[in-house]
Amino acid sequence: MDAPYAKLEQLESGVGRVLAHNPSAFTYYGTQTYLLGTREVAVVDPGPDLPEHLEALEAAIGGRPVAAIMCTHTHRDHSPAARPLAGATGAAIIGCAPLALETVGPRADASFDGDYRADRELADGEAIAVDGKPVTAVATPGHTSNHLCFAYGDALFTGDHVMGWSTTVVVPPDGDMAAYMASLDKLRQRGDRIYYPAHGAPVTNPRQYVRGLIGHRMQREKQILTLVAEQPRTISDIVANAYPALDPRLVPAAGGSVFAHLLDLEKRALVEREGDSWTAAS
Ligand SMILES: [Zn+2]
Repeated sequence: MDAPYAKLEQLESGVGRVLAHNPSAFTYYGTQTYLLGTREVAVVDPGPDLPEHLEALEAAIGGRPVAAIMCTHTHRDHSPAARPLAGATGAAIIGCAPLALETVGPRADASFDGDYRADRELADGEAIAVDGKPVTAVATPGHTSNHLCFAYGDALFTGDHVMGWSTTVVVPPDGDMAAYMASLDKLRQRGDRIYYPAHGAPVTNPRQYVRGLIGHRMQREKQILTLVAEQPRTISDIVANAYPALDPRLVPAAGGSVFAHLLDLEKRALVEREGDSWTAAS
């Protein structure tokens, strides 16, 4: 596939997409920035601060009023272009909160955009109008603690909460498996027609797709419980057994997800740890 970098693709009336040139093992072909609206637009996940991408976004906006620049969360592949785009268009940054810092040690690692600031933060259920139609925040913590999806008509812009090409990375301390599962359940109870994720193809069977993601995580949890019931195991031992033939670049992320599962299981008193070693609760 020739990825359509720096081009506006009109996916349906009121939904345009511009792909940023930041492909990686975590971003697939890159971050997909969405333009919502027709006469005026909202920009969802402006993406990385790359001159070519900002130029493409300005061309796609084509001088239309920009109602808001909206970020689903503040990973570096999503939010850094918000500030320069706000400068170029005069639009406000409205959407997710900056990442909250814990009292003991930062929750953020190098993948977070620490410079992100919102002119207005949207809480769950709060909306702004674009072209007279609401864009509503749906709080979906899990991938990150500040993650929002945005509902526009019967389409849901899912950021990294639900992706179209791979399962979502949930890495502690900011990533939280129990929150992620609750946020998947929240989507399962909605009636969205289509998901537009920040990475990968649109999801045209949302209910079924989300059920599949929930099933996948429950399967993974069961697998981890079985492994630690056999013998005490470290995270790398669990990854080696649970993710055979994994792309080596993804091993740290898999370790993070296993850790997120273990912390959740520990809270539920199903596993115990001693040093680096995890075992089934006695
Ligand atoms: Zn992310």
